Amino acid sequence: MTDKITVAGVAVDTRHFIGAERVASAETFTDTSPIDGSVLGEIARGGRAEAEAAVGAAKAAFPAWAATSRAERARILHAIADGVEKRIEELAIVETHDNGALLRSHRRGVMPRVAHNFRFFADWLLTLDHDDFETRGHTNHVSWDPAGPSVLITPWNAPLMLATWKVAPALAAGNTVVLKPAEWSPLTASLLADIAAEAGLPAGVLNVVQGLGAEIGDALTSHPDVRRISFTGSVPTAQRIAESAAARLTPLSLELGGKSPLLVFADADLDLAVDLAVEQYDNAGQVCLAATRILVEESIADEFTRRFVDKASRLKQGDPRDEATDLGPNIHPRQLEKIDGFVRRAIGQGARAVIGGTPDTGLGGLFYRPTLLTDVAQDSEIVQEEVFGPVLTLQTFATEEEAVRLANDTRFGLAATLATGDHERAERVTARLVAGTVWVNCFFVRDLQAPFGGSRHSGVGREGGTWSFDFYCDLKNTVTAPNGWKNHG
Ligand code: NAD
Repeated sequence: MTDKITVAGVAVDTRHFIGAERVASAETFTDTSPIDGSVLGEIARGGRAEAEAAVGAAKAAFPAWAATSRAERARILHAIADGVEKRIEELAIVETHDNGALLRSHRRGVMPRVAHNFRFFADWLLTLDHDDFETRGHTNHVSWDPAGPSVLITPWNAPLMLATWKVAPALAAGNTVVLKPAEWSPLTASLLADIAAEAGLPAGVLNVVQGLGAEIGDALTSHPDVRRISFTGSVPTAQRIAESAAARLTPLSLELGGKSPLLVFADADLDLAVDLAVEQYDNAGQVCLAATRILVEESIADEFTRRFVDKASRLKQGDPRDEATDLGPNIHPRQLEKIDGFVRRAIGQGARAVIGGTPDTGLGGLFYRPTLLTDVAQDSEIVQEEVFGPVLTLQTFATEEEAVRLANDTRFGLAATLATGDHERAERVTARLVAGTVWVNCFFVRDLQAPFGGSRHSGVGREGGTWSFDFYCDLKNTVTAPNGWKNHG
């Protein structure tokens, strides 16, 4: 194993980052690029020993970090944001090679948001105060005590973005962190470790370990010194993590999958509705929030489908480094097989592919054609289960009542999108939807002040603003009597 690899001219350390030291493992795993299947490098494959070392480093660093002033923590978080901003181009190119998402969105959207994650939570920290309040003359004072070493486990579809949604509030709150990125996209987390060290984050406050979920992931989530676990990923993994956490009642935050609906009513601006629908292919469909179930009012279904097909057929699929590309590859051969399996089974059960329905082998990478399936039953696998690829279904409804019933009829509840020209309808329908986020005539607008998360199997808890701080802290209420000081002058 070499300690450093070069990805498109950027040097990336392939080892763990524990207590500010780079640490190798005897074992490695191979990281490949979804763009062309090329090997990017051999990455340290940690196990129980590395989990012990990383949690140990986080535990040792915790008292001093928890005791730093809010102003000092905010200063360092802003310095990390500065470091991210200086390296946006490097982070963007490495992430694109590692997970295949579009370079232009990494450059202009994702990496600036990564920096913003640090700035937002740094600033929030400085305003995080309740006014004291009185109870029969007694003063109540609420404080946010840092909880302790926190394990953060993240997926591959938006690696650095999702990791820093957790890292930034955890550090701001005064916790120390062990971050384990997904094994299909391990590289930008390693660059983040470099940036944090350069920004002056003390040793042991942020540790990054690499490896497979079932190995080091499991060792981390079952560790007795871990005080918080924050996980973004799939439902089956969340269930395993919850079992590990249950033994010690370690508090958990779980951001999981979705099967979100896009409801298009006959009174909607049809061009907008079609734009919203086609947008669901973003990131080659590998977006937890994607509205993969299009529900259209019967009377406009034919016109909607015609316009959708027209627009979707013009999407350009190809190399994610090319500015003109709309859709890059899927992450891994296993993911492509999984997507194709869902589509094959759906077609076997009578679904019709209006567009797509097969991989595109001509492009040389892991590409699946943007797919729209009709003639799907509500209780079928393709309507009920998350595909995590560029595969949408289209169903029709006759009434608002039926639209709401279909929208809510899965085990998930992450998000919902509505296209309607009727304000009152939007309010009525929104009130009845089971979803952590509802977008009305828009999609993917996300403010860090807002709660983010899902209901049912889409998750437990919420991230964002004060919800993140509440999770990473032990909240304390101090009640002081009005006249308790008489013996002290
Ligand atoms: P995954 O569950 O396979 O893996 C996620 C992470 O968990 C990886 O780092 C993996 O190594 C780790 N892991 C696996 N097994 C583990 C174990 N036993 N113990 C500890 N850690 C373990 O998910 P994925 O395929 O990487 O990501 C895709 C999923 O993530 C989709 O379901 C998607 O909807 C979901 N997701 C949700 C959100 C959200 O905010 N709700 C955002 C992005 C992705």
